[in-house]
This record gives sequence, structure tokens and C-alpha cells, in this order.
Amino acid sequence: MSFDPALLKQFVYINGAWTGADSGQVIEVTNPATDAVIGTVPNCGRAETARAIEAAHIAMADWKKLTAEARGDLMHKLCDAILAELDDLAALLTSEMGKPLAEAKGEIVLGVKYIRFFAEEAKRVYGDIIPSPWADRRILVTKEPVGVVGAITPWNFPNSMIARKLGAALAAGCTIVIKPSEFTPYSALAFAIMAEKAGLPAGVINILTGDAPQIGAEMCENPALRKITFTGSTRVGKLLAEQAGKHMKKVSMELGGNAPFIVFDDADLDKAVAGAIGSKFRNSGQTCVCANRIYVQAGVYDAFAEKFKAAIEEQLKPGNGLDAGVTQGPLINAAALAKVEAHVEDAKGKGARILTGGTRVGNAGTFYAPTLAINATPDMRVAQEETFGPFAALFRFETEDEAVARANDTEYGLACYFYTRDLGRTFRVMERLEYGLVGINEGVITTEVAPFGGVKDSGLGNEGSKYGLDDYLNIKYACVGGL
Ligand code: ADP
Repeated sequence: MSFDPALLKQFVYINGAWTGADSGQVIEVTNPATDAVIGTVPNCGRAETARAIEAAHIAMADWKKLTAEARGDLMHKLCDAILAELDDLAALLTSEMGKPLAEAKGEIVLGVKYIRFFAEEAKRVYGDIIPSPWADRRILVTKEPVGVVGAITPWNFPNSMIARKLGAALAAGCTIVIKPSEFTPYSALAFAIMAEKAGLPAGVINILTGDAPQIGAEMCENPALRKITFTGSTRVGKLLAEQAGKHMKKVSMELGGNAPFIVFDDADLDKAVAGAIGSKFRNSGQTCVCANRIYVQAGVYDAFAEKFKAAIEEQLKPGNGLDAGVTQGPLINAAALAKVEAHVEDAKGKGARILTGGTRVGNAGTFYAPTLAINATPDMRVAQEETFGPFAALFRFETEDEAVARANDTEYGLACYFYTRDLGRTFRVMERLEYGLVGINEGVITTEVAPFGGVKDSGLGNEGSKYGLDDYLNIKYACVGGL
């Protein structure tokens, strides 16, 4: 094993204690690069979730009373503990999720940046004094932590998706119950190991693995939990928002995307190719902001395709993420691999031509070759659904209006990208694209200091940045009368 085995915690963490499931049942966790079983985690349900929520509720009484600086100090200690074991945590993340070790390290470092950012930002949760329309009364506005937070997270960023939520929640004065993906529980449980090392009080962070619908239902229905923050599929997000709505819980939703990536005739083609490589193939295409539909203007279509093909063949190397030089890990599981294969076969059947890739790689694990197709058309599955894998399909367009209309022709609205050197077009297109995130001449834009969130079916709310704390705060208006 290439990481410290003490980091492989096969228990859940409730109220500062490590325990199994009430039923004694477990879930197996496998390495997608080798198909080997890494270990198990408890298969918890509603009862364990209720206990975690109760612990978080009790712990919150003291946690929210701490000054922002005191909470921030503990959060910085949590980050120090994480960074002290960065190499091992990265190897653990790669072993359960598959991404290349360098990307795993990068993800954990980004997670730390989110937590540190919020640790500082908490000192700036300002209130307001509003000029009063009454001579004898004053109007005060303060912000309070929303309450216990329930976080449900996906497997594609097993660390940073948790860090964004945990950082904001803790900074705001909330405590948290986290349910990570069943595919990547160990990177999540490692937060609890680090929280213990950092001296965070029991109950502030609780981490549960198990039956997702049951844990989700308890979070939505338990009155002591006041907010659900979710990153994952639009299908599950809508289900949770509906359940949470019945109990009037605050929700934040980071859901699926179907990102357009537009290359105009006036683009710097080399930069556009570099951006497309990063945006499409990072994490083997398994990010919710990955380019999914690549629209290239007719005048540069062939040149772009040729350069993109060369870059894919020269720069991308599939393999076990623990091996040096690998840039493309496996897909997360057999279902994910089957979806990529289906999208490629569907495109081929409808007239697309494969320029490179188009096959699985190796016999073990769930690897798919980085694939490029030209002559993609709107009737193909890749045009309508998120592939979530290493398949780049190039669509041809003629005019700016056409590109914008086609880019917006989706129920999703998370990330979009375009490449142009024309200043007027930069602003026209940026303003017309119905998306929460816009990369202009950039393919990878995530940072803790900027907001991250989608519109339409891609979600509600923002994570990161000075806006990211708002989702964890309630506004209180106090009218002080009788002066
Ligand atoms: P993905 O397709 O990215 O795996 P999912 O939405 O299926 O996205 O999973 C994201 C997270 O949602 C995971 O932690 C998963 O266990 C959880 N999840 C799946 N179904 C439900 C559900 N019915 N209620 C609550 N959480 C769920």
C-alpha cells in the first residue's frame, strides 16, 4: 500500500467517536484502476444519521459562540494537519478514485485553500445599520449561522467538494454531518482523522457512510438539521430539494452541466487547444465543468481538429494514477465506462468520424482512451447529455448568433467557455450565455476566491468566494425601539 494504513478508516465518525453501522453491515470500496477491494465502510441508515445530527446540534451551541478568529484558528490547524500528510492523503485519494497523483495533490491543496479562505472570511461577516424611518427606533441587521448542515458529496473530487462545504459551514458557526460518495469514502473519513489531530470539538464534524436515500431522507426530515448542501447529479439534487422543501430547509445545489466550449475564427488556436485539453480531459472528463460540446467555427474547424488531435496524442497518457507520467486515470466504475462507450458508439452511428481513441484501454480497471470525433451533430447523445468521460466531440458552426443559441440550447447552466480575441465579441457573448461560470480564453477557472455555481437545472447557490458564506447564514433584523 502506498499510503499510511492508519488513514484507511473503516468506521464512521459520530460525535468524536469511530463506530460501525448499527446493523453491522458494510460496503466494499474498490480501486477503479485495478478492480481490487481496498476495504469496507459501515452501511449506516437513518438511526446513525439521527445520532450524528443530534451530536452536531449539541456541539453547535458552543461552536457558534466562539469568535470567528477562534474558529478560524482551529480550521487552520485542520489544514496544517492535512498538509502534514499530503502525500499519503493524495495516494489514498488516487487509490479510491483513480485520478493521477499530481491531480490528487492539487485537489487536496485546493481544499485547504477553501478552508483557509473561509477561516479568514468569517471575520468579515458584517451586519448593517439601516437608516431608520422612525425617530425613536434603530434598525440592526445581523447574520447568524443557519444551523446544522447536511452535506452530500460526489466521488469526482472526494476532498475538495467536502472542503468547500465544510470550510464555509464551520466558518459561519455551523456544525456539519457529511455523507460522501460510497465510491470514495476514505478521503472523506480522513477529514475526521485530521479534525481529531487539530483538536476540533466532538460533534462539530460528523462523517457517515451508508445507504444514500436513507441518510438523505433523515437529513431532510430531521428538524434539528437546517440546511442541505449537495453536489452531484441533477436527478438526485431535485429529489433532495423536493424533500428538503417539504421541511423548509435551506438548500444549495451544485448539479450537472453540459458545458459548451466555443472556438471562434479569431481565437488563438494554440491557447484554445490547451484550454480544451484541460477543460475536456482533466480528471478523465469527470468534472461537472468539463467541456462537453465543442463548437468550432467553420473557418478554423479543420485546423483546430488537427491541432487538438496532435495534443491529445502527445500529452495524454492513460494509466494507474499512482504511476509517474500518467495524466488519465480510469473512469470511476463500469457504469461510467459504459456511458462513454455508448456515447462514442452513438456518435459513430450518426455520422461522426473518430480521429483518435474510441476504444477501452487494457483489460483490468475502467480505462477509456482519450477520444476525439469530428462531424458531431445535435441529434447525438453527446450533444444532449453530459458524457462525464474522455470523449471530445467537435460541432461545426457558422455565426456568433448560431453558436450562442446552440450553447444555450440545454436545460443546464453551469460552466461554458469561449475563445476569441475580439473585445466586442468577448462582452456580447459573455453576457448572452446563460451560465453561472464563463471561461473566456481559459479552460480551467476554479479558485477559492471566485464564486462557483450554476443556473437553470445546474443548481442553486454559490460556493467559494465572499458570496459562499451567504448560503450558511440567516439574516436577522432587530428593531430597537423606545429610544
Ligand atoms: P454521481 O452521478 O455524480 O455519482 P449522484 O447524484 O448519484 O451523482 O451522487 C452524488 C451523491 O449523492 C453521492 O454521495 C450519492 O451517494 C448521493 N445520493 C445518491 N442518491 C441519493 C438519494 N436518493 N438521497 C441522498 N443522496 C443520494
